[in-house]
Amino acid sequence: MLSTMQDVPLSLTRILEYGSTVHGDTLITTWGGADGIEQAQQTFSAVGARAAALAHALHDSLGITGDQRVASMLYNCAEHMETMFAVACMGAVFNPLNKQLMNDQIVFILNHSEAEVVIADPRMAEQLGEILKETPKVRAVVFIGPNDFSSAAAHMPEGMKLYSYEALLDGRSTVYNWPEQDERTAAAICYSTGTSGPPKGVVYSHRSLYLQSLSLRTTDSLAVEHGETFLCCVPIYHVLSWGVPIAAFMSGTPLVLPGPDLSAPTLAKIISTTLPRVAHGVPTLWIQLMVHYLKNPPERMSLRELYVGGSAVPPIVITMWEQRYGVDVVHVWGMTETSTVGTVSRPPSGVSGETRWNYRVSQGRFPASLQYRIVNDGQVMASTDRNEGEIQVRGPWVTASYFHPDVEKEGGTASTFRDHDVEEENDELFTADGWLRTGDVGSVTSDGFLTIQDRARDVIRSGGEWIYSAQLENLIVATEEVVECAVIGFPDDKWVERPLAVTMLYPGIERTRETAERLRDQLRDRLPNWMLPEYWTFVDEVDKTSVGKYDKKDLRNHLRNGEFE
Ligand code: ADP
Repeated sequence: MLSTMQDVPLSLTRILEYGSTVHGDTLITTWGGADGIEQAQQTFSAVGARAAALAHALHDSLGITGDQRVASMLYNCAEHMETMFAVACMGAVFNPLNKQLMNDQIVFILNHSEAEVVIADPRMAEQLGEILKETPKVRAVVFIGPNDFSSAAAHMPEGMKLYSYEALLDGRSTVYNWPEQDERTAAAICYSTGTSGPPKGVVYSHRSLYLQSLSLRTTDSLAVEHGETFLCCVPIYHVLSWGVPIAAFMSGTPLVLPGPDLSAPTLAKIISTTLPRVAHGVPTLWIQLMVHYLKNPPERMSLRELYVGGSAVPPIVITMWEQRYGVDVVHVWGMTETSTVGTVSRPPSGVSGETRWNYRVSQGRFPASLQYRIVNDGQVMASTDRNEGEIQVRGPWVTASYFHPDVEKEGGTASTFRDHDVEEENDELFTADGWLRTGDVGSVTSDGFLTIQDRARDVIRSGGEWIYSAQLENLIVATEEVVECAVIGFPDDKWVERPLAVTMLYPGIERTRETAERLRDQLRDRLPNWMLPEYWTFVDEVDKTSVGKYDKKDLRNHLRNGEFE
């Protein structure tokens, strides 16, 4: 028997309409905008009106009449939110680009998504110009910021149609007759950052984004809350800033969008000026800010909670933020494939002391909407702390496959990657019975808390035993002399691999064999002898990927090229 319920599609359009009216006065602060203003404010209602005007412009002047892809090459700013809502709500597909990727990866993405229009920040024009030489489908670029974009235009390939965003919006109606779309249609396409292989496209539906926004507002999750200013340090190109700006439109949450500069001094200034209550971002951001605060203590601390994920959060980071500033670092695990926020580490009520701490340093609890299982050697294991294996997930905001246009029919792409590489990855990442293989090795307690030991490919295999690089990194960073550390496998004739600790020391600490010995000694009471790294290399900074994770692919290349002493 079917239910008697109305079948109303879940959509971003409803969220836009709701947020821009009911929460119309809620403010977005853009820091370091393209117009050169340090701090500009705009209301949710203005975002709604300008998104409508942009949709008219895209439809009437740029020929976006169906589900074409409209890409963005923008920092976190109000125009980025207008673009996201306009494109998705008019029935097209929003494709944010990560400028930190290699140019040939961005070329790959644009050719793969077949984007026709790019909305860009003129400050990225030089890079974009290089990219657009190899993306024949892109026919127009729209620059945000000042109407005069002549210096940006100089970088664009011949024949490209160029527009000013503000001039395009000028005089357009601020009301758009948004179409009612099937909730399963595509709203946005994001590419995973390609720490393994070429970027892979994950297409979010209106339904999946709506459901995820509802979930983000719950107190088990990020508790995106009315009136509690949220500083969004996760870029919109990284899974739509984990969906937080969309959830904010549901709840009337003021947003701070920090623009291009996320260096610690600027972040400290943004925080002391805009006084956010919560923020999100990758661990390195908050480690660097803590180091900055050690020398330049903040006069007051507005932050209450930091949601940190993307890679494992070293426990010392949780301790330091709590002890010094009373800020709760809440650990979050997720992937582009799971619309990011999967698990969130909020301890169950009523626990204290060490038990509570163990919950806090875990990756967090699975929500009801995300089914999980642990698989070891093809066997599904029971969820107990002792059973470890690959984590597999399934749920309404988990992707069932990657995006696959038939690029061959277009005569191939100008990209350095071949599409069938993606096909192979596809086969590897989804099981025959419909689960996503996360590639993460870990365990889940009987009450649903996940602990990731490592990425399967980062585990160091030493003489038949497994050494989890993430465990070593956490312990090394917890010593007083180390700012950052990434551990990779060093080829070894006898053991196959041994751990190599690529380490950034605090200024003033000598990069000597004695320092390495001292660090190693400090690990002795925490680790068995065979796990202690005998190889150390000291660096100015540990290489990171475009989204701030340790770039182990790059570190392994340095190692292969003999660039580590
Ligand atoms: P990429 O695969 O390009 O790095 P994603 O952002 O999708 O892009 O990365 C997802 C992966 O990041 C997860 O599979 C996991 O390995 C890692 N990750 C994310 N959050 C955490 C966390 N809190 N702890 C440990 N690993 C994490």
